[in-house]
This record gives sequence, structure tokens and C-alpha cells, in this order.
Amino acid sequence: MVLEIGVLVAGLATLDDPCFLCGSADADQVWTTPDRALGVPGVYTVVCCRDCGFLYQRPRVPDEKLASCYPDHYPRHQEPSPRVPFKGSWRRISAVRWALAAGLGYPAFRDGEAPLLTRLRGRLLLRRLRWDCLPWIGQGRYLDVGCGSGAALGVARALGWQVAGIEPDRPAAEKARRFADDLYVGAALSAPFAPGRFDVVTALHVVEHVPDPVRLVRRMLEWLAPGGLLIIEVPNAGGLGARLFGRAWSGLELPRHLSHFSPETLRRAVERAGGRVLWCWQRAKPRHYLWSLRNWLRDRGLGRLARLTELRLVYGALKLILEVTLPLVSWAGRGEVIRVGVARVPGSQQGIMPVPTGRV
Ligand SMILES: [Zn+2]
Repeated sequence: MVLEIGVLVAGLATLDDPCFLCGSADADQVWTTPDRALGVPGVYTVVCCRDCGFLYQRPRVPDEKLASCYPDHYPRHQEPSPRVPFKGSWRRISAVRWALAAGLGYPAFRDGEAPLLTRLRGRLLLRRLRWDCLPWIGQGRYLDVGCGSGAALGVARALGWQVAGIEPDRPAAEKARRFADDLYVGAALSAPFAPGRFDVVTALHVVEHVPDPVRLVRRMLEWLAPGGLLIIEVPNAGGLGARLFGRAWSGLELPRHLSHFSPETLRRAVERAGGRVLWCWQRAKPRHYLWSLRNWLRDRGLGRLARLTELRLVYGALKLILEVTLPLVSWAGRGEVIRVGVARVPGSQQGIMPVPTGRV
């Protein structure tokens, strides 16, 4: 398909930037959709770079208009509810403490020898906990980039971290301030934190929102202390949902998502920024597919059927079926969300790596 820049956009002003990853201007249209989630006016397009295969929004909303893509009801700016793991019976809390100490390295929760049942329960809990709780590293100095209203900061503080955040949206940042020792309101690239200041830096559903993801990753790597870990999470454009539902895929989130990473293109972005992917996890939740399914049905004029999936009984049945099958999808590397752990490559020439044109 031939690219028709500017023809399909009727909302925010846009910019015809080349591939964020390799700099090539050659691309083919893949998906075109309006903003299904929050109703920002306009129709937006995702293209595939002919040189490196990266999926990105083009034309894209220019930097000075990006804030208009986030209406007041943007979910991450609402009142936060941190998923602090210490809840339930004392037996459960003992198992959580054991899992945090034994599985995620928290010295503060080492309670001596735990009974067998506590350890078994802790092992089961660990699968979920490792998504919600950071692994303990170094002196426990944590920065969340694009922290929204502070849900991740709240969990980290409850677990004993020294907590810092960066958030460009002022009302959201004010909500996050209660959890943070240090909070910068503004763009990540202009945040004044000193290099090497943090043991863990996270960017959870942030990198896909910025115009220059490689530059942001490079900046985040600079903030890591020796032995530090950068954790990046993004939707998986190489997953089953994108393949099945195409332009109805809920992970597109146009016009807010400028980049659409697969595990492979995320790895390349990280390496270009001077990092190395240590591990890559994937997961899929039923709601990801159910959102996509509703979009897909509405696109086919089946709005009534889409509404039917919102009925409690129907939703419950679909959710159950998906819960049984989704671990297989994640296991096959086709999940809806990718999370990578990244280390800084010693001696990498950060800050002076040019973006080449052509194949990478
Ligand atoms: Zn490219």
C-alpha cells in the first residue's frame, strides 16, 4: 500500500517524521483508526518501516501538541490505587514477605526459617508479585519515569524504596507527590537528576508515547548506578492480539502511542541506546482481548453484539475461557505486554550515537 501522508488526518496537526528507529523515510501504511479509547478527534495511521520493519505512527502529532492527546479522563492521571502486596490474612502476608525476601532479594523481609506451607504459598504468589514489586537492588533508590498519579511509586514506598518520579502532567504529578521523596514535573529529557543516581529506573507504558524512544532509553540508562536495572514495559505489537484484530487491536491507543514495539524492535531500540536486554517477560490479560474484540465487532457494524460482551455473564464466560488459554499465548512469545530488564553496557558511547539512515 502506498503512503498517503496527511490525507487521513482531520484532528490534531501532524508531522511527517521518518522511522524513529533507523531514520528511513520509506514506509507502508498498516492500520488507520480514530482514537477509540478517549475520543481525541482525528484519524491516525500506523506505518511499517520498509528498511527495519518498525511500526510507528506517521504522520505523528508534533511535540507541542502531544499534551492535547491526553484528556482529563486519561486513566493513568486518575486517583491511584497502588497494588501494595501486604493484604489479607497474616498467613498470606507471611508468604508475601518470604517471597519478597527469597524471590526478589528484599533484605528487610528476611524473617528467618519459614514453615514449608509459607514457602509453598510464597512460590505461588511470586509469579504475580514479580510484576507488581521491583527486585531489590543496591541501596533501594528508585525512579519511575512517566509515573502518572503514582501507583508504582506507592508500591515502592510501601516496600521501603527511596522514591523519585517524573511526570509531565501537573495534576497527575500532584497526586503522585504523596508517594515521592523527589518529583520532577516536566519532560523526562529535561529532568535534572544526576547520572548514576538510581538502582532501578522504570518506564511502564511510557516509551511508546515519546517522539524519540532511543534518546529516552539512553537518558534512563545514564541515571543507573553501577549494577542498576532499567525496566521497560510496552504493549506487544508482535503479539496475538495485534495479529488477530489488526486496526481494532486495543494496544494501538492512537494518537497517544507513537511507537509500536515487538520484542525484536524493542531490543534494537535498547541496544541503539547503549543497553542490553537481560530478560524479556510477556503476559496477556483477558481484558486486552475483550477490548479488542469489541472494537473489531463495532468496525463490522455489530455494535449490539459488542455490547452483549459487556453483560456480566457473557464477559465472565469469555474471561474464563481466556484465562485458561492465555498462559500458552504468553509462553509462545505472543503476549499482549512485553517487559524487559535492561543493563547499561559498560563503555557504551552514550550520547554520541547518531541515528543512521538505512537498514539496521
Ligand atoms: Zn526503520
